[in-house]
Amino acid sequence: MTNTRGPVVTILGHVDHGKTTLLDYIRKSNLTDKESGGITQKIGAYEINTNFSSYRTNKITFIDTPGHEVFTQLRSRGANVADLALLIIDAKDGVMPQTIESIFHIKAAKIPFIVVLNKIDLTEADPERVKLQLQKHGVLVEGRGGKIPVIEISAKTGQGINELLELILILSEELNLTYQPNNPPLGHIIEVKKDKRGVVVSVILKDGSLKLGDIVYCLDKKAKVKAIINDLGKNLEKVYPSTPFEILGFDELPKVGALIQSKPLNQEKKPTKIDADAKKVDFNQIFTQEEKEKKELPLIIKAESQGTLETIEQSLSKNKHIKIILKGIGEINKSDVFLAKITKSIIIGFAVPIAKEAEELARQEKIIIKTYHVIYELLEEINEVSQLWQEKKEKNIKGEAKILANFLINGEKVYGIKVIRGKINLGDLVEIYRGETMLGKSRLVSLQIRSKKVLEVKKDQEAGMIFSPRLDITIGDVIKSIS
Ligand code: GDP
Repeated sequence: MTNTRGPVVTILGHVDHGKTTLLDYIRKSNLTDKESGGITQKIGAYEINTNFSSYRTNKITFIDTPGHEVFTQLRSRGANVADLALLIIDAKDGVMPQTIESIFHIKAAKIPFIVVLNKIDLTEADPERVKLQLQKHGVLVEGRGGKIPVIEISAKTGQGINELLELILILSEELNLTYQPNNPPLGHIIEVKKDKRGVVVSVILKDGSLKLGDIVYCLDKKAKVKAIINDLGKNLEKVYPSTPFEILGFDELPKVGALIQSKPLNQEKKPTKIDADAKKVDFNQIFTQEEKEKKELPLIIKAESQGTLETIEQSLSKNKHIKIILKGIGEINKSDVFLAKITKSIIIGFAVPIAKEAEELARQEKIIIKTYHVIYELLEEINEVSQLWQEKKEKNIKGEAKILANFLINGEKVYGIKVIRGKINLGDLVEIYRGETMLGKSRLVSLQIRSKKVLEVKKDQEAGMIFSPRLDITIGDVIKSIS
């Protein structure tokens, strides 16, 4: 037997753009008369019954702690609690930093989303401007060359909210959200707390069902379900997917975002796949490669999931001053620090812990480890650091010259150059560039202006040069003196 479950929806967006107001409005306006008498409980999510009857389900569950911190926390090992996201943007203020962060998070989670332009009741609201801003951030909405649904609402007056709920149901039909009630329960922990009832764990099931007396596990923590309580404080006998509920029965607090299932799973002791791969890295190979392309800032990146890692990598790929030496999933460990030492890299972590020995080793070896919990901050800082790195590199360049001609004199290859910046001296170590690519390094072993041997050439002077070793230099290449 296969049943349809309601979509689990999360709301993301910049602070003050109206996330809480929207959640409150939807909840209040969808309580039935009977329910509105009851006292609503905050259990991390709530479920509504919409008035639409032409879809496979009329139910929608909203995670009621908006924002991307919780969103990220609620992703357990790549599995998302949320089936769908709402990206809420103030139609007056437009795209703001946390809007961009939210886009990263949604893309990393690979879930569909709806762009919700809020505060449409304000006269200064300008939805078209926001759509244009979104376009610049790679979010192409319907009517602007893309497929991402967009809707205009007012969380204050309620304008457009019914249409938004219907749009959620339409998208859910396409997602085909189903479950087997006879399967063992599989769910996510969305909130944990301790109150006078003891340890209280809020859960949303994605498959199976759960009834009183069942045994469930969260990692290696076990619980016999003593009570199931819904968001109206009502005790239930049995629950099915997408309806949020609290359970009593755990002795210790499990982790938010962890999975609830019918069998124990010791996730924490499982080595991650990438860590195993990291051991296979050939240090020598990386070393020579790094030497060759020293122009770039070498980074080692560790993130909590494949999705986030891809998002970070994709965003950094636009920065040509960065070179990713190693990327992986899981905690920052000792082998990362060893690799950083050898490759002179900085270690970047996103929502991952640092192993204690790794932290100690990094301190001894003076390796920089930076960890972040907000993607936007990570990208901004890396871009800044790489800029500084670039400037520092530029400062170390004493002079630059362009190759204008080459001759063969007494069997020796001589290059005609013009100095375009600074000065160049006999004996200098030089880097040869063709466009952005460095061809290699060589030493200046002969320098003369016309037929006179000199020790130095300055800006705008022309000279003849001989390099050793002789590289495959051609007209148009640029040499940079780094000593
Ligand atoms: P959050 O930080 O994203 O949760 O934003 P809030 O829901 O707290 O809203 C921030 C402010 O915007 C509050 O003062 C709300 O009353 C106001 N606000 C939210 N939605 C609307 C709307 O549709 N129209 C207007 N005029 N104000 C709104």
